[in-house]
Amino acid sequence: MTTVIPGPAIPGPVDPPARLLMGPGPISAYPSVLRAMSAPLVGQYDPFMTTAMAETQELYRAVWNTTNDATLLVDGTSRAGIEAAIVSLVRPGDRVLVPVFGRFGHLLAEIAERAQAEVHTIETEWGQVFPASVIEEAIVRVKPTLLALVQGDTSTTMNQPLEDIGAICARHGVLFYSDATASLGGNAFDADAWGLDAATAGLQKCLGGPSGSSPITLSERAVEVIRSRGRIEAGIREAGDVAASDFVLSNYFDLGMILDYWGPRRLNHHTEATSMLYAARECARVLLLEGRDDVIARHELAGRAMLAGVRGLGLGVFGDVAHKMTNVVAVEIPEGVPGDAARSALLEDFGIEIGTSFGPLHGRVWRIGTMGYNARKDAVLTTLAALEAVLRRFGAAVPAGGGVEAAVDIYAGAA
Ligand SMILES: *Cc1c(COP(=O)(O)O)cnc(C)c1O
Repeated sequence: MTTVIPGPAIPGPVDPPARLLMGPGPISAYPSVLRAMSAPLVGQYDPFMTTAMAETQELYRAVWNTTNDATLLVDGTSRAGIEAAIVSLVRPGDRVLVPVFGRFGHLLAEIAERAQAEVHTIETEWGQVFPASVIEEAIVRVKPTLLALVQGDTSTTMNQPLEDIGAICARHGVLFYSDATASLGGNAFDADAWGLDAATAGLQKCLGGPSGSSPITLSERAVEVIRSRGRIEAGIREAGDVAASDFVLSNYFDLGMILDYWGPRRLNHHTEATSMLYAARECARVLLLEGRDDVIARHELAGRAMLAGVRGLGLGVFGDVAHKMTNVVAVEIPEGVPGDAARSALLEDFGIEIGTSFGPLHGRVWRIGTMGYNARKDAVLTTLAALEAVLRRFGAAVPAGGGVEAAVDIYAGAA
């Protein structure tokens, strides 16, 4: 006799509520990205598939502003790209320097520690960025093989300037990796001009897609390091006396194998996540059709309008605004307003999601994003109007229409 386990009550097909996602990510995807994801699947070695992969590589070279041949996708959310970069570039015992200016710096340090690196961190106060000279001093002191530096950290909204860091790394023979997940597409990023050896991102911020694919680009120097590690082909270790530490600790994130899969040899590794490939391709296509600089300008304008709007409501803004990312602002929760209840009211009554915050900022600020598809005037104005109504309901004295008015002024000035 088999035991019959009662089946579940079968729910209806998935039918999400209408939402305007105005948090620090994920954001509402471009409609064409959602359409691309519903396109039919093809086999892994179908000529259509290999063409779509090659097209995606070419599109992302333009997104990253690079000529790097090794420009591809790692399947998984943004941290899949982060892990792939770090475990593939770092051998156990290597020194890694991580300047930490928010939550994601801690993530890079944690991942490097798991990769058995000797991790050194320097920290700055939340809401600040590092001067290049401070990073150089730490490089001279620590002598790392890799510098791992977040560009835009949504936890603090700061955008770490990167343009001088590559030259510093080159001078001291250090590989330069940046996590540009939250910033790519909405803030300038010039992989080649800034001397990046590795950079990774995700789709669910300024690129306007769902999470689940991580674009990555690698310089020739980074590829050489990756190629110098132990190789495994078709499950067989390359002959010779290769030290165990030469093999990348992860199979899934072994960039050597992932490069062989995306490269001309097309050696089987994982099964490419076809629907995510379509999504990533469409995110880049939409961005480049509008124009890379135009998309950054649209984020800059929406960010400036949102900043003026929250200030127009009399709210304070956290951090060094001169170094704020274009696409997210940390808004101080006014005295007496229950932050979580107000956020819930925005979601339940207006269908608008804004973000809470972490660590030292928890309970002090909300984070409001204007990114990708939602870096739009109507999304900015709707959010400000709803925020005003909610603040008023929770007893805050806010200037009537002050938020929308200030944002409209920014858009009028730019028209
Ligand atoms: C949002 C964000 C991530 C997200 O990683 P996921 O794995 O996609 O959740 C990583 N890094 C930074 C800097 C981010 O802002």
